[in-house]
This record gives sequence, structure tokens and C-alpha cells, in this order.
Amino acid sequence: MDYESVIGLEVHLQLSTESKIFCSSSTTFGADPNTHIDPVTFGLPGALPVPNVKVIEFAIMMGLALNCDIRKLNRFARKHYFYPDLPKGYQISQFDEPICEHGSIRIQTGDSTRTVGITRIHMEEDAGKSIHDPKTASSLVDLNRAGVPLLEIVSEPDIRSASEASAYLKALRQIARYLGISDGNMEEGSLRCDANVSLRPKGELKFGTRTELKNINSFKFVERAIEYEVARQLSLLKNGEEVVQETRLFDSTTGATKSMRSKEESAEYRYFPDPDLPPLVIEESWIHALRAKMPKLPEEHFNELVDTFELSEYDAGVLTAEKSFIDFFMAVVEVCRNPKGAANWITSELFALLHKEGLEIERIQVTPEQLGRLISLIDEDILSGRMAKEVFEVMFTSGRDPEEIIEERGLKQLTDDTTILELIRTAFDENPEQLKQYLAGEQKLHGFFVGQVMKASGGAANPKKVNEILRAEATRRENESS
Ligand code: ADP
Ligand code: MG
Repeated sequence: MDYESVIGLEVHLQLSTESKIFCSSSTTFGADPNTHIDPVTFGLPGALPVPNVKVIEFAIMMGLALNCDIRKLNRFARKHYFYPDLPKGYQISQFDEPICEHGSIRIQTGDSTRTVGITRIHMEEDAGKSIHDPKTASSLVDLNRAGVPLLEIVSEPDIRSASEASAYLKALRQIARYLGISDGNMEEGSLRCDANVSLRPKGELKFGTRTELKNINSFKFVERAIEYEVARQLSLLKNGEEVVQETRLFDSTTGATKSMRSKEESAEYRYFPDPDLPPLVIEESWIHALRAKMPKLPEEHFNELVDTFELSEYDAGVLTAEKSFIDFFMAVVEVCRNPKGAANWITSELFALLHKEGLEIERIQVTPEQLGRLISLIDEDILSGRMAKEVFEVMFTSGRDPEEIIEERGLKQLTDDTTILELIRTAFDENPEQLKQYLAGEQKLHGFFVGQVMKASGGAANPKKVNEILRAEATRRENESS
């Protein structure tokens, strides 16, 4: 029998607010343990949570970007469980009245596009961190992360392969970064993902029993964990055994998943509305104001690059990968009005230098206006491509204007017709034997004369002009002699 994999992801996105979700302690990563704490973080009796308005705004923006309905009335709920890094004994989350519902996102893998439903997005607080130290045989708790805001984004079980799962995750991360609501760094834990995986016979509508995979902390591991789990379930089913519904832990060193605990039911969490936090009412005008503030999203940019600017899908993908890239690109195009040229210069020359110097595009000295002017200088035949590369390297390291560098190095391209013709005539006079053969139709001598002229001009002559004028002069002489 042929089986199909069914996958749904639960993604936790850490929001890049300055303060925590229900108090004013800092969210900065990497501080000394237990320095970003306060009575609310500790859950001390009498300490009351106050929602951070930025968290709500970020949740609404993510919801709008994922085509969700924003719930006008939503509520915080307590999710109870015991763990040393959760001092209150409950996590403040949202349960049956989450802020966003019924969304969707389009993802692309290879040539196929799939729409993945977004079940819900809710806001919640992160827990602290337990550190188990084998040397002292003790466990320590750091509460700096407790109360850091998270969005949990739950997908419908619409994903059908490991590569689609990773494409989905990358698309979420890209949108979050465009919106500026999270850095989406998986290695640092600001993007975490649990994958739910099941199999069903092809054509069957009913879902099979699923397992939930935890501890996946890179895009590569998402694919590996799912591939392993699909293979494991497949061999169970083929042997007539059953998949047990459970939570499994992915081990990145072995690439395997192993059983961690049987799957808990939501009733076990004893959810109830948090009496410390009144229901949250979101007015339409607020949603409108946020929508108006949102930047253009990657998909819209991508379509514009392909449809209007006629760039390849590959280049469009590269240029829209980060908001900083597309912003830079659009600013270059604004100046030079040459999207193909801008795309080439950014994806080849600029990215090569960024890579070589280990720099981020946000930190470079050369401005998009300067690169735009450089491209215009090429388009106006003032610079050759080779000269422009030389100028650009200086621009990149110094931030200086292209015009100034050209002036200083005497790099102007020679485009004056009369001067070029002079050089051609000299080349003819100096090489009478070659000229005879050339005029007799020996085409490879065309290249020879172009080379002579380029050499005589010190590489400054515009090759296109040299070609044109050389052909015209040769034709003239042929006619003269016949
Ligand atoms: P819980 O909160 O207990 O983890 P949910 O019903 O909220 O369970 O589902 C969580 C995730 O599991 C969702 O992303 C959903 O799409 C996915 N999911 C549900 N059923 C299946 C299934 N049979 N196979 C694969 N994924 C599933
Ligand atoms: Mg779950």
C-alpha cells in the first residue's frame, strides 16, 4: 500500500520587544542569570500582569500577514503544569479565544505551490530555563527568559513532505523578519518548531495517528526529524503494527526520534481564563492603523520583480530573501531605472564583497544611490564594466562617490568617435599585412584590430564603439579600393 505523510507544525516565535509580555523587565538575550526579573516574572503573591501593547500589535501584524481573522474579543488563559522554571505553576497563554484564526500562507517548493492553512496564532509567555549541571549534580534555574513574549503559530495538517515543512518554516521566518517582529533565529531559540507527523493510505480522507516531534532547532533538522519519523511510522504500518500517539524527542547527533512521553490532553492543563487579565477588546480602527503601517511583504515584492521587472524567479528569490536586500535593490532602481543591471550588481559584485568581508548589507558604507549612479555611468557608456568593478571596490571600502573615484583615477571611458577613428587608422597603418587580409575577408583579424585599439587607448576605449567604427572604416576602405 502507498502511504502519504500528513504534517502540521506548531511554531513558537519569540517577539523582539524591549520588555516582557506582562511586565517591564528586559528581554535582552545573554544577560547574567536572573538579572532580568521582577515580582511578576517570579509570580510573587500580589504581583499583577499588565499586557505589553507591542506584543498585541505584533500578533495582529503577523495575523494580517498570514491572512487571518483578528478576533475582536480575545482572552488570556492559564495553562497549568508544574516545572521548576515556571514559578507561578501556570503559563499565561490563550486557549479557545486566540488573537488570530483561519489564516493561510502560500509556500513554494521546486515548481509546486501549496497553500497551508493557519489554524490559529496566540500570544503567550515563555518559561525560564533549567540548567542541569552534572559536575555539581545540581539543577539551576534562570528566569531571564520567563515572561519573554511568544507567538504560537499553529498550522493545519496541510503539509505533505519534509521539504514543504522547511519551506513553510522559512516563509514564516521571512515574514516575521520583514515585519520586524522577530529575528527568527532558530539556533538562538527565537524560532522553535514542533512537528506533528502521521501517515495515511493514499486516497484515504481520515488522518492516521500522529506523533509530535520536539527539540528541533535548525531548518536542516526539521527535514531530518520528519524524514526519520515518516520512515519509522512507515515500517510500523507495513509490519501491521500501530503508531502510538506520543511526544518524541529528536536527537540531532543520531538523527533519530525517541519516545519522550505519552501525548497529554488539553484537559490535563486545566485551562481557564486568567482572572488577573481582563478580556482584550481589539477595535477595528486599531487593526486598520496597523495594516497601513505594514511593509510590503515578500510575496508581493517577488511578483513585482518577476512580472514588472522581468527578473528570473531565482534572482527574485535571492533579492526578496531579506527585507534589507529588497529595500537596497529598490533604492538602486529608483536612481538607475535599470532593474536587471541593479539585480546583477547586487547579487554578484555586492554579495561577493559582503561575503568576503563578512558584512551585513545594513552595515556597509556604499549607499544604494551611489550604486545606482555607478550603473547609470555604465549605461551611459561613460564607464566600461571592467572599470566599474574597479570603482565599485573602492566605493565599497571607502563609501566615496563613484564620480570622485573616476576623476581621481582618470578612468573615463573613451567614447569620442573622432579619437577612436584616429586610433583605428593608426592601427591600420602600423599593420599593413594584417589589414590586407582583413579587407580580403579574414574575419578573425577583426578581433586583432579591436585588441590593438584597446591597447593603444590603455583599455579606456568603449569596446562597443570600437567595434562599430572599426567595421564602418573597413567597409569604407573596401569600397575605396574596389
Ligand atoms: P495539540 O495542541 O494537542 O498539540 P492540536 O490539535 O492543536 O494538538 O494540533 C497541533 C498540530 O498538530 C497542528 O499543527 C495540527 O495541524 C497537527 N495535527 C493534528 N492532527 C494531525 C495528524 N493526524 N497528523 C499530522 N498532524 C496533525
Ligand atoms: Mg502540541
